[in-house]
Amino acid sequence: VLHAIPGIHARSALLGPDLRPVDDVWLTFADGMITDIGSGAGPSGLLEWPGVLAPGLVDCHVHLAMSGSADVVAELASLDPETLRAAVRSNARAQLRSGVTTVRDLGSPDDVVVHMARELSGGTEECPTVVAAGAISSPDGHGNFLARHAVGPEEYSAAVRAVAESGARVVKLFATGGVITAGTTPGGVQMSPAELAAAVGTARTLDLRVAAHAHAGGGISNALRAGVDSVEHFSYLDDDALAAAREAGSWLVSTLVATTRFVDADDRELATPETLAKIIEHAPFEARSLARAVAAGCRLAVGSDAGTTFNPHGWGMQEQAVRLRDAGLPDRAALRALTVEGAALLDEPTGWLEVGRRADVLAVPEDPAEDVRRLRDPRLVVTRGLLLELPPRAQS
Ligand SMILES: [Zn+2]
Repeated sequence: VLHAIPGIHARSALLGPDLRPVDDVWLTFADGMITDIGSGAGPSGLLEWPGVLAPGLVDCHVHLAMSGSADVVAELASLDPETLRAAVRSNARAQLRSGVTTVRDLGSPDDVVVHMARELSGGTEECPTVVAAGAISSPDGHGNFLARHAVGPEEYSAAVRAVAESGARVVKLFATGGVITAGTTPGGVQMSPAELAAAVGTARTLDLRVAAHAHAGGGISNALRAGVDSVEHFSYLDDDALAAAREAGSWLVSTLVATTRFVDADDRELATPETLAKIIEHAPFEARSLARAVAAGCRLAVGSDAGTTFNPHGWGMQEQAVRLRDAGLPDRAALRALTVEGAALLDEPTGWLEVGRRADVLAVPEDPAEDVRRLRDPRLVVTRGLLLELPPRAQS
């Protein structure tokens, strides 16, 4: 259980959506929100931080019900409901302890995370604010083990209505096959343009945002032209998909860390041979596609896809920050992708420090907008105005 603090006074802070550095700053909090920001001697009773304040991180793609084992499909099949709920709580805690103050969960079996989102986000529990999606796939399609099933435009529309009734705020679609579902491939298009149009059209009338999983170029283009808010993974960003991304202005959510963690895992041979072959095959394309998206100036947000194979919760956003840097994104833009852009995609009042936004704050020793690798050592995490103190972390 975490405790509310009245505010923080710091050596400096990155303020507003531009992450503008300002020295000698204080912020006050009430009811989980930022109520005032000023410079110089602030109100009494504030916590003193001799370093820099940054916005809490926004992880746009997680699976809190999954814990990153060698075979997550088998893992899920073996868990009873009580154990599953305990796993969600423990994974959410691991996210917060790595500086993530908001997560978007993109699919859980039986909507367990949708049902838990309010209790996780509403109280003093040690966890980030959770925005949860209901997933829809075809019966044998990628992600079928954590999704409602639909075939054809009418069934997709009906499934979107059921997602809205469940209390989810986002619809997750699978425009292509994927890595961890047997019998599907990242290069295989899974939804027709008519199905995508029906799902997105229905979601719009119900005020739901739409995230589309898509690796293959054709699937990326189809999803963007149907008007989805974000495309996840975008491993094969060909010329047509890149043009569609620039026209649509939707977010591309990079989850490259999920792929690199799997490919680099010492015990990766424990995964099913089919899954291992697929991850190795598509990994270089995914890295190249991220560099293409950066060079083209596409709108980028970031997800860890934590919970997937060999990809446990925690510290994925820091690794992803380094991937963005390697892909050519300047540090300040990378930090904006991890915070400001994620909040805009999720339509959540977080992601930058401003009066009226949520008191989601990260305290680090030195300015992470100058070098995003400094995000590896958060000492204080404030979520909804609640303080979590962390021990110094060995640099790796
Ligand atoms: Zn995912």
